[in-house]
Amino acid sequence: MREFKLFIGGAFVDAASGETFETTNPSTGEVVATVARGGTEDVERAVAAARTAFDDGPWPAMPPAERTRIMLEAFERIKDAESDIALLEAEDAGHTARMANLFTIPYSNEYWRHLAELARRLEYHEPVEDYAFPTPAWDFVLREPFGVCAGIIPWNVPYMMAIWKIAPAIATGNTVVLKPATYTPASACALAEILAGTGIPPGVVNVVPGAGAAAGEALCTDPRVDKIAFTGSTEVGRRIMQLASGTVKKVTLELGGKSPNILLDDADLEIAIPGSVWAMYMHQGQICHAGTRLFAPAGLYDEVTARLVETVEGLKVGSAMDFESDLGPLINETQFHTVDRYVQLGQDEGAKLLTGGHRVTGNGLDGGWFFEPTIFGEVDNSMKIAQEEIFGPVLSVVRYESVEDAIRMANDSIYGLGGAVWSRDIPRALEVARRIRTGTVWVNDYHLVSPAAPFGGYKQSGIGREHGPWGLHEYLQTKYVRVDQVPTKDQKFWYQVIGL
Ligand code: NAP
Ligand code: MG
Repeated sequence: MREFKLFIGGAFVDAASGETFETTNPSTGEVVATVARGGTEDVERAVAAARTAFDDGPWPAMPPAERTRIMLEAFERIKDAESDIALLEAEDAGHTARMANLFTIPYSNEYWRHLAELARRLEYHEPVEDYAFPTPAWDFVLREPFGVCAGIIPWNVPYMMAIWKIAPAIATGNTVVLKPATYTPASACALAEILAGTGIPPGVVNVVPGAGAAAGEALCTDPRVDKIAFTGSTEVGRRIMQLASGTVKKVTLELGGKSPNILLDDADLEIAIPGSVWAMYMHQGQICHAGTRLFAPAGLYDEVTARLVETVEGLKVGSAMDFESDLGPLINETQFHTVDRYVQLGQDEGAKLLTGGHRVTGNGLDGGWFFEPTIFGEVDNSMKIAQEEIFGPVLSVVRYESVEDAIRMANDSIYGLGGAVWSRDIPRALEVARRIRTGTVWVNDYHLVSPAAPFGGYKQSGIGREHGPWGLHEYLQTKYVRVDQVPTKDQKFWYQVIGL
């Protein structure tokens, strides 16, 4: 069994309280690791270390190319650890071994590589258009790191979220304190162990596992923290905005979703059906932009639902450590009860349960909270199962009469994270894509996003963007410098205004 400490100022330390907690394997309930439980005092220490590394350390003042070089060296270590991290993610977070090895871990690492590389190519010194008003001046803009950034992340894709918060912050010269989710701290702690052996100076990256209500809130209120990058639920996102307002911190939020997945009547169902299954059931639906609302044209509704049912009934639910499993466990018992409650609610609301709806037990699965991939048909978009984020393997299929209707219902949501359109006619799909009010729209695809592209939400799915130049700019302040060009006192504009 592994043991993880807090990573503060380049050292691995116990919590000030001496407390630890156990993180468990959602497939079995077995303990994966003992982890130091960071509290408010530990957050203070970590923020102090990050502050010193920013205010007095070499990192923010280094030429960007030097930071890139150090991060790309670290990337080699990160790559070497890929299969170890994949195993840890399977054990601690219930990513199926196949998903962790083929997708989530290597894919996360590619973000590290790309953002480190992109930061070197950004403009940190930009000209301002010549504007001789009210007097001639040489105007330019400096892009400067914010300072100390807090990263607060959820349990669903913990390693990816750790990379998504650390890499852009430090690539742009900031320092960071990361608070992993209580349920899944292991891979972020393991990442800290890898980074400790690289050229990244002490205090630039700090990792403090601990409870949201203690360590999380302390990060959001500490006046020495300049920016918060949060990924998690919309509910906690609202709270974080409130907490951050006390010291007027810059906040970026990646929040919940209820993403629409629209099948047009000319969709190639050979691709769109498995694509919609992938959209919904990747990681048991515990993905922020999961395609949870499938809009099917009335003329294809029976065929679409029949083919969906047939496909999901062929999926294997099993231990995340088993390479044969298509779906692993839900993260914990609380999440199981949430999913179970929505399955009941959907039936009470009048939706038709087409398949699934139950916990999966037996065959060695009794130690975890496994759930059948579930499909509701005859869903009305106003039902709670179509409006609220379930964060489990429950698909709502909504019938539509016209594409206008489908677009209207797709946009009838407080969320605006992702969405997809499936069609053989790309111009037609693009017309729909333009009208969907979400931060990402896929055409004949789902879940895959490029590290060079912006990621984020419309409406209550978030504020700001991650990745690509858009994401890196969220970590940079914009400073305007004005160098006066008027040589004599008498010609100074203000000299005349103030009447001296
Ligand atoms: P959550 O309950 O909002 O927690 C997210 C993080 O915030 C955890 O580290 C949590 O700590 C911490 N936290 C909780 N209360 C806090 C407070 N008062 N102050 C500061 N921090 C606090 O979300 P979750 O259940 O872990 O994750 C699922 C949610 O994340 C879903 O809604 C999903 O849509 C969203 N998500 C969004 C994206 C995106 O990119 N938009 C990506 C992934 C997930 P504890 O672990 O100790 O509670
Ligand atoms: Mg765990």
